[in-house]
Amino acid sequence: MSNKYKVLLVEDEQNIRTLVSTMLDTNGYQAIVAETCSAAKLMYDSYMPDLVILDLGLPDADGIQIIHHIRKDALTPIIVLSARTGEQDKVRALDLGANDYVTKPFGSAELLARVRAALRSNRHSSDEGRFPGGCFVLGKLVINYDARRVFLNDDEIKLTQTEYNILAFLSEHQGKMMTYSTIIKTIWGDTADDGSIKKLQVNMDNIRKKFGVKPGDATYIKNELGVGYRMDL
Ligand code: CA
Repeated sequence: MSNKYKVLLVEDEQNIRTLVSTMLDTNGYQAIVAETCSAAKLMYDSYMPDLVILDLGLPDADGIQIIHHIRKDALTPIIVLSARTGEQDKVRALDLGANDYVTKPFGSAELLARVRAALRSNRHSSDEGRFPGGCFVLGKLVINYDARRVFLNDDEIKLTQTEYNILAFLSEHQGKMMTYSTIIKTIWGDTADDGSIKKLQVNMDNIRKKFGVKPGDATYIKNELGVGYRMDL
């Protein structure tokens, strides 16, 4: 019996497949590989991996199908790996339930960091429900969900209700890239409109200012322009 995390790598380009599977194996993961969409579904169903790294451009079908297949009944983290650089493709994959997106060419360190973050975010979301009680801790950031208070480096950060809601929502999905539309739907619900993206950006700017993050510090919230935000170290 192995207690290693099983990672299903779906990629039709042999050099990338070899590179990534070797990198996974040498970093303590057990890599399982598939070259096509149909093989990936079979491998997924038989091995039930802990994480899926998925190339969208596959020879037999669009890799998006695999996201649908997995999300029918599982929250297994999915990192999309693709040469597609269009924001629309990223947003589409994320809105369908992919956790994150890495654009080729990528470095091993970058992909490994995303793998660790995705596995962490899955553990977090499966152990606790929405807006769980207790505290969220990430580096020197502490969110007390019961009291709705936020601390950074032991100093309390005073946030507006909206700023707090955004921060709590991102923390609840730590490590996962959340698209603008997902955040907006959650925060503003039925009152969301064309101005919501601007409102979101203003709120995010205010949160960052209040965090007063200096260069070299952990920033906690990363923005991918045109796509969304991710909370992580
Ligand atoms: Ca491909």
